[in-house]
Amino acid sequence: MTAAGHANVPPGEVDLHMHSTASDGSLPPAAVVNAARVAGLAAIALTDHDTLAGLEEAERTADALGIRVVRGVELSAHDGAREIHLLALHIQRPALLEAQLTQFRSDRDLRAQRIVDKLQRLGMKVEMDAVYEEAQGGAIGRPHVARAMIKGGHVRDSKEAFERFLGAGRPGFIAKTRLEIADAIQLAHSAGALAIWAHPGPECRRERLEPLVRKGLDGVEIRHPSHLTEDVKRIGALADFFGLVPSGGSDWHGAGEGPRALGSMHIPPAWLNAQDVLVARKSAAEVA
Ligand code: AMP
Ligand code: ZN
Ligand code: FE
Ligand code: FE
Repeated sequence: MTAAGHANVPPGEVDLHMHSTASDGSLPPAAVVNAARVAGLAAIALTDHDTLAGLEEAERTADALGIRVVRGVELSAHDGAREIHLLALHIQRPALLEAQLTQFRSDRDLRAQRIVDKLQRLGMKVEMDAVYEEAQGGAIGRPHVARAMIKGGHVRDSKEAFERFLGAGRPGFIAKTRLEIADAIQLAHSAGALAIWAHPGPECRRERLEPLVRKGLDGVEIRHPSHLTEDVKRIGALADFFGLVPSGGSDWHGAGEGPRALGSMHIPPAWLNAQDVLVARKSAAEVA
């Protein structure tokens, strides 16, 4: 990885999961696209949490640089008691997502306020204004709270912020408003997007996947920084078994935001091609 936080990839490779300042990434959309070009990526998907606000700038920059941007968004859902993240990739009708995403963002704002309240009751001098300062108008997430805590000198780094305060079960934790997974899949489909299970990890087993496929899941992330070699093998085999399209990406949040490098998952162009074929097939079926 270079200091700028990206790999140097062979021609044609893509990266289908990353974040910008539109949500909790550290770089503006144009800078993300620039980094992708420097890394040598042919295409990227911008998949900010609960917002499409970065897409226009990303597309404009990508047009100028000759790389492709796939329109995406990362949704938080629940599958029973378990949290599950869903990528809506290849969004064709963004307007149909806006009302729901606006609601999620306003819930995120309230949640951040409740988290700050909790931290204050624990004696930490952290203010909501500092969190807004970090978010800069983007969809607010726990990483923004973590950055405000670091700047205030309350924790050393985001790892400590999550481990001591913000992670599930910790004293500053508040759950997000989430859709039931079937509704999240439907929401993706309503916009003409593919519904992809993001970083499914060790929980991705045949028994867990089968009901999701029945609910319309189109694909799974096979390669993700959180996946061990055995996860990649197992999830790849399950994708074949269920006829799911493969996806993957670095979940990049910018240089210096964690160990992952842009392009580091080495996603082959054939995976994006398989997604394009499925999008085209589903669009044709919609018209028919
Ligand atoms: P939120 O959307 O507010 O629930 O925040 C989720 C985001 O927090 C993820 O996308 C990660 O970027 C980040 N995150 C989650 N867990 C950790 C952790 N243990 N350490 C650092 N960042 C984390
Ligand atoms: Zn994130
Ligand atoms: Fe996620
Ligand atoms: Fe992500």
